[in-house]
Amino acid sequence: MIKSALGMSTSEEISFSRDIDPKILNLLESQAPRYTSYPAANRFQELNHTVAESWLSTLPSDKSVGLYIHIPFCPKLCWYCGCHTKMTYRYEPIETYIDLLLEELRLLATHLLRRPKLHSLHFGGGSPTILKLKDLDRLFYAIHSTFDVLPTTEIALEIDPRAITKHEVGVYAALGFNRVSLGIQDFDEKVQKTVNRFQPFDLVSNCTSLLRESGISNISMDLIYGLPFQTSSSIKNTIEKLLYLEPNRIAYFSYAHLPHLKKHQRLIPENALPNTLEKTWFYLIIKNLLEKSGYKSIGIDHFAKEGDDLFLSLQNKTLRRNFMGYTPLPNDYILGVGMSSVSELGHGLAQNSIHFLNYKTKIQYHCLPASRGWRYHGDDHIRKAVINHLMCYFEVDLNEILTQQGYPLHYLDRELTHLKELETMGIVSVKNRKVQFQADLPMLVRSVAVIFDSYIHGEGKPHSKVA
Ligand code: SF4
Repeated sequence: MIKSALGMSTSEEISFSRDIDPKILNLLESQAPRYTSYPAANRFQELNHTVAESWLSTLPSDKSVGLYIHIPFCPKLCWYCGCHTKMTYRYEPIETYIDLLLEELRLLATHLLRRPKLHSLHFGGGSPTILKLKDLDRLFYAIHSTFDVLPTTEIALEIDPRAITKHEVGVYAALGFNRVSLGIQDFDEKVQKTVNRFQPFDLVSNCTSLLRESGISNISMDLIYGLPFQTSSSIKNTIEKLLYLEPNRIAYFSYAHLPHLKKHQRLIPENALPNTLEKTWFYLIIKNLLEKSGYKSIGIDHFAKEGDDLFLSLQNKTLRRNFMGYTPLPNDYILGVGMSSVSELGHGLAQNSIHFLNYKTKIQYHCLPASRGWRYHGDDHIRKAVINHLMCYFEVDLNEILTQQGYPLHYLDRELTHLKELETMGIVSVKNRKVQFQADLPMLVRSVAVIFDSYIHGEGKPHSKVA
């Protein structure tokens, strides 16, 4: 269907662009959720905080939970950024926010019937490394007061390598951080300057060494393809440098250009953005080079070394997808703390307010700051499981899921009829209600998942392109 990108030469790039099936190109240019949740976050509806509070009080006592803390501040804004964050020169708003986070943690504790064990604790953002160490310490004290942090708990931190000192790295290690992800995006100077994120290779390399010297050896690196001025050759150079740093995991995200939703993205010169075919070709280069260097491809945009938990979870079928991407950790129960963070609470999803005043007012009135979300109902659990299987394993046995959930085997036959066109295009095969994704372009699995999404045609913000 699509030419193999094994040699990755210029002539192959030309023939890839020339030979691609126009229907496949249409699919790559169409919009689809990335399915970090089901339903996708743009389908969430207004949710009263009392609903989230009642869900919290029914958390089963035998389950461990993941805790996510969102720090929505950055010292500088990257023009491509799609996160909920705000640039600040002053530290005062951050201090105020930490006070609110502490209060939110205290409120959470009042709704929990027991003291949960944490399987994971993740600080994300924004830039959590913007926090002064004394404030990180205050947060850790509050977390330890509310939850059981075990020797096995994964404690992860998203790091901006531009602002890290040896002392800070030492403190992170002493606090128990045992996994970090470094924001890199691209090593090409022109690309970096165009997206307002200049960070020389040596700076990242020094940061990586400091982390390893301090004992933090689980290192993930986050990159983006589809940025302005990227070329096949600049992508290859970036990967060469990336491989030198030997991260355990790599997330190579597709850039979502949505300037109508993210105003700062208007500062990105659109005429310097790669087109759909170029972007798709970049992905093939990335996959090819990383796989040749011993990394295993996971889902639509992650890579891991063979012995890494992420790859092992793919093999033993415990891989999950959540708001942070692919994870080997269970995500039945995730508590999101801080503005915009999402909690997964068994009965549904609850997202905290993304507006500071609203977030602050709710906490000041001693309410949890949930404002939007989704209460699972109807056949959501089946569709959620089907989509999770597709996004994680690129296959799904509908008979197995329908039987597990007590539904008749023909329940999704209408969706199988809708898959026929993708079958004709060679994107999937279907046999005995087992759907197998077959395309060489993993991102197309989003177009398969869409078929099982009941809410795809509802109102809401647009999704990013599949490519
Ligand atoms: S990409 Fe990361 S560092 Fe850059 S503005 Fe967004 S959250 Fe901040």
